[in-house]
Amino acid sequence: MVIVTKTGTTAEEVAAIEERIRSEGLKPHRIEGARLVIVGVVGDPSEDFREQMQIFPGVERVVRISTPFKLAGAGEGRPATRIEVGGLTIGGGSTVIMAGPCTIESREHLMETAQQVKQAGATILRGGAYKPRTSPYSFQGLEVEGLEYLKEASLATGMPTISEVMEPGLVGTVAAHADILQIGARNTQNFPLLKEAGKVANPVMVKRGPASTISEWLMSAEYVMAAGNPNVILCERGIRTFDDSTRNTQDVAAVAVAKRLSHLPVIIDPSHGTGVWHLVEPLALAGLAAGADGIMVEVHPSPELALADGPQSLTFENFDLLMSGVRRVAAAMDRPLSELVSA
Ligand code: PEP
Ligand code: MN
Repeated sequence: MVIVTKTGTTAEEVAAIEERIRSEGLKPHRIEGARLVIVGVVGDPSEDFREQMQIFPGVERVVRISTPFKLAGAGEGRPATRIEVGGLTIGGGSTVIMAGPCTIESREHLMETAQQVKQAGATILRGGAYKPRTSPYSFQGLEVEGLEYLKEASLATGMPTISEVMEPGLVGTVAAHADILQIGARNTQNFPLLKEAGKVANPVMVKRGPASTISEWLMSAEYVMAAGNPNVILCERGIRTFDDSTRNTQDVAAVAVAKRLSHLPVIIDPSHGTGVWHLVEPLALAGLAAGADGIMVEVHPSPELALADGPQSLTFENFDLLMSGVRRVAAAMDRPLSELVSA
């Protein structure tokens, strides 16, 4: 961190700035310019201290030098994180395919979808049991019953699973039934939830909030990691913008930015990113071309009958078509599809 003083700041004010830095257990390093003084701060200043110094007498501005993402940040020479889950690797040069229904609707519905997406090449089964619905009158999910079906489908197909957890008190329950916990877009800054997800052994996928900057999104991942869980996956699922031709605006650039700022795997979710089934393929492929470590896609046997997110869900046939494009782009990117060991 570097503190730039205002022109005309007195020697006493500079001395007070230096004294304040020392009182934090940090070391000031003064550089005298012709018109102003710059004080370097040696050590590891906290965010709170940085904010306080912005309004300290004589301070013009405070410049952050090191990354605030101590654990999630790319760091010097930090290798890409590889997450091992259910015999599968996420990150580190492969492409992972997560697919399944938005919402688990029944045992048969999930089982049929699981078999079909597996046959087409998916290796992680998605399915929501606790659903964050905009309206309280919309279907809210099968809850524990749904999680039990998810576990059964996982045993039947050999696919590890991912499911959303919406409240801290349910982290243990979801973690006992699903291999990966999903923190949904609406909960991406639910800090008690992030801290709780940091306490379990399951990997955690943190979605980007509809109004989160990339920094805020990475900070959400940092929360999970700071609580003790290093196995975090980032997921770009579209953000809220002025354009209303898609449900959200898929920020493909965010994939490339997150890959540059962080060592964590990044997944693109073009289903929520666009909200339109026929835009899922182009955005999935664009995400992979931008460097994503995988995709998450919603699939339904009859999207027109889906209890949630039908307009963005792919039929089995369209998922098959998507997979042939995915295979070509993954090969072109030199990131082969991650295979299930048992498959
Ligand atoms: C979902 O994955 O079904 C979901 C609700 O996603 P998001 O949190 O991105 O809206
Ligand atoms: Mn959905």
